[in-house]
Amino acid sequence: MNRHMTAQPVQFMKVSRPPVRNTTSPRRNYPAPKKKNKLKKNAIFLFIELIILIAIGAQAFLILTKKSNVEIAAETKIPSWIDVQLIDQGNPSRSGVILEGINDIVVHYVGNPRTTAQQNRDFYNQQDSDVCSHFVVGMDGEIIMCVPLTEKSASSNDRNKDTISIEVCHPDTTGEFTDESYQSLIKLVNWLRSTFNLSTDHVIRHYEVTGKECPMYYVRNPEKWDQFKEDLKAAEEGKEVESSYRKHKSGEDSEESEDYSADNSEEYDYSESENYLADNDVYEEFSSEIPDEEFEEIFY
Ligand SMILES: [Zn+2]
Repeated sequence: MNRHMTAQPVQFMKVSRPPVRNTTSPRRNYPAPKKKNKLKKNAIFLFIELIILIAIGAQAFLILTKKSNVEIAAETKIPSWIDVQLIDQGNPSRSGVILEGINDIVVHYVGNPRTTAQQNRDFYNQQDSDVCSHFVVGMDGEIIMCVPLTEKSASSNDRNKDTISIEVCHPDTTGEFTDESYQSLIKLVNWLRSTFNLSTDHVIRHYEVTGKECPMYYVRNPEKWDQFKEDLKAAEEGKEVESSYRKHKSGEDSEESEDYSADNSEEYDYSESENYLADNDVYEEFSSEIPDEEFEEIFY
């Protein structure tokens, strides 16, 4: 009996002390502070929601009122250091189609050694030509504009729709630019970058679009392309860029230019140029799969 009697209270004790009682009692005793806390919390949530709404509204306002790069292009005044010689309207190389956007700047090389910016521009303007770039930079640093900034050019394949294109002339088959063309290219690209608010990441080679070896020198010497990006930034900061490229300097009063021509006159005659094209791997690689305008861009 004694054992039984002592066993019972132990069972009751176990059942009668659930931890719930302890936690429910404070709720009943202190309801007021909880309500205040809830009010405070609600106020904070409301405040956060209001801030988020204001932020979304401000962003929507900015998006709705922000001009697109094509709209900016339409209002952009072309600086005097650019020689504007637009391709005739209605010419096959100037479609007149308005760009969908301006997201990148594509750099090319003309692929035809020693041709001038004027010769390339005039080639685009021929009735049987269906290629053209927005700008051509010559070996003396001259810059010719061929297509308005708002219109599509015809040189960067799938990216014609949202890019500005620049063809650069070069003295020999390596495709290396002259110092003058390099300096002008930096000036032109930086002007475009600041006009359309584009970082150097948005300056690309034609190679990035199609894998084509263009501009050849920068595809074969990628470190020089990296240097170009660095030089763009340096020039943007107002620093003078000293390039490793040769000076061109045409003109009768320049002895250097005469020597240069004499040294290279045989190397760049027409037949030699044809051999270069026939030997060119790129020609073979693209011959079967690219449209005529792609050939013309490099091999006309
Ligand atoms: Zn190209």
